Amino acid sequence: MIVYGYRSTHLKSANLPNVKCPNCETQNQMTTSVYGRHVHIFWIPLFPAGNTGIFECRNCHKGFKKNELNEDGKLAYKNFKSQVKTPIWKYSGLGLIAVLIAFGFYAKKQGDAEVAEYLENPAMYDVYTFRTEGNYYSTFKVLQVFKDSLYVSYNGMETNKRSGIKDIDKPANYSDSLYYVLTTKNIESLKESGDLVDIER
Ligand SMILES: [Zn+2]
Repeated sequence: MIVYGYRSTHLKSANLPNVKCPNCETQNQMTTSVYGRHVHIFWIPLFPAGNTGIFECRNCHKGFKKNELNEDGKLAYKNFKSQVKTPIWKYSGLGLIAVLIAFGFYAKKQGDAEVAEYLENPAMYDVYTFRTEGNYYSTFKVLQVFKDSLYVSYNGMETNKRSGIKDIDKPANYSDSLYYVLTTKNIESLKESGDLVDIER
């Protein structure tokens, strides 16, 4: 379940000068508090969603909404509100999302660079993950590296999810006695077909 909604926090309070109380008509006793609303998801502030003011007379202690003030009051509030800054933490969620996206791009780029490096310089026990013809995933393990070919052992198991690779990449699933020869060309065409998913070292 995703928990989200609005929350409000107190931003700033002030006395509104030259404003008459609509109730007791005392001058200069009107105070305002500005509350900033923001959208949250799991209580992490995502972005601001407007400010509201509440008003109280210090003389009669009655509370008011903005539309109950006279024109001077509305104007004084407008001036005050324009000086109230939205704190940057109210954007935390957006910041977090931006960081996660940036990290995702970075990690993908690093991963691609790693695969390119492993393809260029294969090593014993590298494990290649590839997409099978039936759109499953399986692996083969490098047993020997030669100048223009690899001896590999295929995994006897396959999985329908990429994340399932860790469950099938086990020594018992690779044959000790049966190996295949993959030429550099074979590996290149595997990569070009887009079916080479990953290389782990
Ligand atoms: Zn009053």
